[in-house]
Parts: sequence; C-alpha cells; structure tokens
Amino acid sequence: MPEGHSVQRTANWFNEHFKGQKIKVDSPQGRFSSDAKRINNRVLVKARAIGKQLFLDFDNDLTCRIHLGIYGKWRYSEPFHNEIVGEVRARFYTKAALADLRGPTYCQVVATEDMVHLENKLGPDPTNPDPRKLNQKRFIEKVSKSKSAIGLLLMNQSVISGIGNVYRAEILFRAGIDPHTPGSNLLMSQITELWVDSVKLMKIGVQKGAMVTREDQLAKRGISSERNYVYKREGFKCFRCKGTVVIEVMASRKLYWCPGCQN
Ligand SMILES: [Zn+2]
Repeated sequence: MPEGHSVQRTANWFNEHFKGQKIKVDSPQGRFSSDAKRINNRVLVKARAIGKQLFLDFDNDLTCRIHLGIYGKWRYSEPFHNEIVGEVRARFYTKAALADLRGPTYCQVVATEDMVHLENKLGPDPTNPDPRKLNQKRFIEKVSKSKSAIGLLLMNQSVISGIGNVYRAEILFRAGIDPHTPGSNLLMSQITELWVDSVKLMKIGVQKGAMVTREDQLAKRGISSERNYVYKREGFKCFRCKGTVVIEVMASRKLYWCPGCQN
C-alpha cells in the first residue's frame, strides 16, 4: 500500500499537468462511467492529497475522491494510441498528458462540500503546508491524550494521515522510542520530534519518490537498497548499536525495531 508521500506525488503530477485546464474523464472498463460523465470536460481546480487519499476538485463543485488501497495503481503517459485498456477504471486526459487508474479501492465523484466532513475526520498530513503549526498541534494533542502504543497511533489515520509501515518503523527508530510506549507517557518534546521528523522524511519521500530514512543516505543522490535503519532488517545488525533488529506483529502489521536503540 502506498504511503502518503506517493499520494502527494500524484497530486503534484495532476497539478502540474491538469490544474486550471478542462480535462476529459472516462472509464474504459465501464465501472466508473456514470461518475466520469459528471466531471468530464470540466476544469480541474486543484488536486489535493490527505494521507492516502487523493481529492480532485472540479469547477462544478464536484470532487473525485480516490483511494488506491492495496492493488490500485496509476500509470502516466502521452495520450493513448490504441493500447489495451481493459482494466482501466478511470482515465484523465488532455491532448498533452494522460493518467490511467487501475484497481482502486475507491474512485467516486461526490459533492465537494460533503468532503469537508470526511476531511475533518482525517488526521493531519505531514506532507501538507502547516504555516501556523495547527497540524502539528492536532497531532501532539491526539497522541498525548491516548493510552495506545505509539506504534499503533502512528498507523491510525485519524491521528496522522499518510504514515504506513515503513515510516512508522523508521520514525520511531530515529527518535529512539520503544514502539510499545503509550502516547500519554511520551514527553512533549518526543511527540514534537515525531511530527517534525515525519514532515522532514516525507518531504524527502515526495522529492525522491522513495522512502529514504537513513541520515547518511539522505543527502546522497540516487537511492540505495540499504536506505532504512530497521524496516525489513530483522535478524541483521543494527547500524547504530550493533545489536539485532527484531520483528513482531502489532495490530496485524509487521513491526520492525531495535530494542538496543529504542527504549
Ligand atoms: Zn540499535
């Protein structure tokens, strides 16, 4: 499943290629045909990403809401030349660019005003601008009031949007926090650090298109296969303490961490 940085990249792609333009929308597969007609030939006002969801706002007060889920995929190309389109749920295109959506969990057209309710339920997204630090404040409040383990809170989309399994493990490692620590037991400075580091790492993820989290790899060009501290490194030596990275299951997702560094 994509983490928030990749959805932000999709929003950036849509803004770069389609924002302010009248775009064509159809459903080669047929399952999205009636919704596609409602936004076809309308101007895209803006594409936005909140966590794992993409919102495409059109000039007729309708929004197309897309969640890729586990199997969804985007494909971008030049406008099409008689290619196979069997599984394409939704196609967005102009004369200059084309985006095909396959296999999403959701792809629906809804009234833009109805989105407000949904957006209020989603937790703050570290990839979105936060000049007044309101998102940071919301995150700190939610975490500090909860007795749930921080390893669970970071995966809860109402606490923070867009963090998945990779960033969860890496952000906790970088902060030296045991994933089992209840949110309410963390210091304010620790919770703030988790937010600030999420903003930093996901910004790099949006730029690089990869979840690079090792400090010594961040400034490097290119993407190393050894870009993470603990994610998928169970049984190997920790880069920092030389202890062993471990794996366990937390809320049915694999959790990677280093007991030597995170305590
Ligand atoms: Zn370690």
